Amino acid sequence: MICFDNPEAAQAWCKASRQKHPLALVPTMGALHQGHLRLVREAQADGHHVIVSIFVNPLQFDDLADLERYPRRFDQDAALLEAEGATMVFTGSAGQFFGNGGPTLRDPGPAAEGLEGEHRLGHFAGVATIVERLFHFTRPNRAFFGEKDYQQTLVIRELATQLGYPTIITVPTVREADGLAMSSRNAQIPIDRRDDASAIYRALIGAQTAWRNGNTDLADLSQQMHDSLNASGLMVEYAEVRDGANWSAKRPTSAIREPRGLIAAQIGNLRLIDNMALLSPPSELSEGSP
Ligand code: AMP
Repeated sequence: MICFDNPEAAQAWCKASRQKHPLALVPTMGALHQGHLRLVREAQADGHHVIVSIFVNPLQFDDLADLERYPRRFDQDAALLEAEGATMVFTGSAGQFFGNGGPTLRDPGPAAEGLEGEHRLGHFAGVATIVERLFHFTRPNRAFFGEKDYQQTLVIRELATQLGYPTIITVPTVREADGLAMSSRNAQIPIDRRDDASAIYRALIGAQTAWRNGNTDLADLSQQMHDSLNASGLMVEYAEVRDGANWSAKRPTSAIREPRGLIAAQIGNLRLIDNMALLSPPSELSEGSP
């Protein structure tokens, strides 16, 4: 596996490489876990060479303490990627990604409104801005994103439509045995609160079960999710249902085609997010799951 520590070197490599193989990009902020590695595995399909970016993008953090706490371990990540069969990994500094004049923030579009967009001001503008840069440097045929960050996938799809490339592929959420969505932040959950953290998964499963049993009252579903999160001592930022086929900042008032429960909650000072389609089967759990 080839490693570059600046995006221009990565760009030159991609330019030469794409003559021989289609390229698949997996953007990450590092501290890799099985969720990221699943993206890498799926990206290898159809003869694609897999490029992984590792960059803790300061533009998408609205909380300086969160940015500083974010785990960084490039060498360990590179070893995992090599074992997984990635072809190239690259990183760089903010100056290298955005230019010395600093970034020109992109408008992340209507999918950025509501929920994450409302609770993390500027977050999706930061995401759209860095992902455009990553696409610019690598010009991939395909790019892979996790459903774990559901609203982000909608923002990225809009970006790719505007740019005219690449094909965006969304990969299901990889979970721990008790349902907790894998996240680079999970290592920061206090050990005595670890069981409480899986209340997020249980609340989503509760909403899924209720929907399948015919409860489509969005205020009631939201209340049920709040109650179950509060019972485990989580501080709820939002616990809502939206239509994945027709995103709206507020609760939809017309018929919903692809109902999806979405939650952001805090456990101590740690913020976790998760989501689940309410109509499809429960997401896969890793081995030993209940
Ligand atoms: P991050 O490093 O957190 O920015 O994540 C990089 C990519 O990995 C994003 O597309 C995430 O949605 C995806 N990802 C993060 N956690 C998971 C997970 N548990 N399952 C699947 N994909 C994930």
